[in-house]
Amino acid sequence: MSDRTPTRSAEPLMEEEKQSETGAATPALGSLAIDVHEASHADTTTHETVFDLHDVNVYYGQTLAVADVSLEIYKNQITAMIGPSGCGKSTIVRSLNRMNDSVGSFRLTGECLYHGNDLYATGVDPVEVRRRIGMVFQRPNPFPKSIYDNIAWAPRMLGMKANLDERVEQALRGASLWDEVKDRLKTSALGMSGGQQQRLCIARSIAIEPDVLLLDEPCSALDPISTAAIEDLMQVLKKQYTLVIVTHNMQQAARVAERTAFFSLDVSNGQRKGVLVEYDETTKIFTRPADKRTEDYVTGRFG
Ligand code: ADP
Repeated sequence: MSDRTPTRSAEPLMEEEKQSETGAATPALGSLAIDVHEASHADTTTHETVFDLHDVNVYYGQTLAVADVSLEIYKNQITAMIGPSGCGKSTIVRSLNRMNDSVGSFRLTGECLYHGNDLYATGVDPVEVRRRIGMVFQRPNPFPKSIYDNIAWAPRMLGMKANLDERVEQALRGASLWDEVKDRLKTSALGMSGGQQQRLCIARSIAIEPDVLLLDEPCSALDPISTAAIEDLMQVLKKQYTLVIVTHNMQQAARVAERTAFFSLDVSNGQRKGVLVEYDETTKIFTRPADKRTEDYVTGRFG
């Protein structure tokens, strides 16, 4: 088991990418993709592994929030994380792009591999990690800027300024938003509906061509029609990206995800900690779960 300074280093991968970015207005994502592919230790007969977690424990201060999580997440699939509130779903998904680094008391042990590279290795730049592994949050959080500038912000920051109009259009098309907003790109994003704002946030994430999109309860603030639009969009996005979604909505997991991880709360010796109970194909989790706790949860007997 390792703490946040594992012996394995992902530095060469990250360094190579930085060089390619500084050398060209548009980052050489193609060469990066080759590195990623070669670094992968995939089950090539079936799926390519994107994330491979081994015995991951997450602590906030002295409190063990979620324990012994081991799972693999596969490329171009939607993986759902379900379970009762407080069992560590968000903690795990936020650990996948080092979003928890800003929490002073956060500590992770175990191995969190991304295409075979330890995300928590010395020398890995969290900003680079978040560029490749984008995140969409529960509440849409557009910047108080125009629709165009929301999308163009990150590419500008990263020096991806060539063909910016085209990049903005592609991102909006990718998020199924272009036709709705193409005539008002210079108007404030805050004037959009909640569902449009959430798709804008997805467009903002994909504008910098990530590899993975993490979605932390992306529909919980949306009405059913906007929720359906996001679910449809996820089916399109998975052709190009790998998606991980935290959802409190079991039906949503059943509708959208190829694989589902069920987390629960384990209470022993007065201590509560999140545990990964079962991880499998979604159909199996919902129709033939191996663990009684999963069965109780998906049949509504608990939680
Ligand atoms: P879920 O997403 O399943 O609702 P979380 O990952 O949000 O669960 O929380 C898991 C546990 O970690 C909870 O006990 C929660 O209180 C705790 N926790 C989450 N974030 C923090 C934080 N920033 N600081 C301290 N404890 C936290």
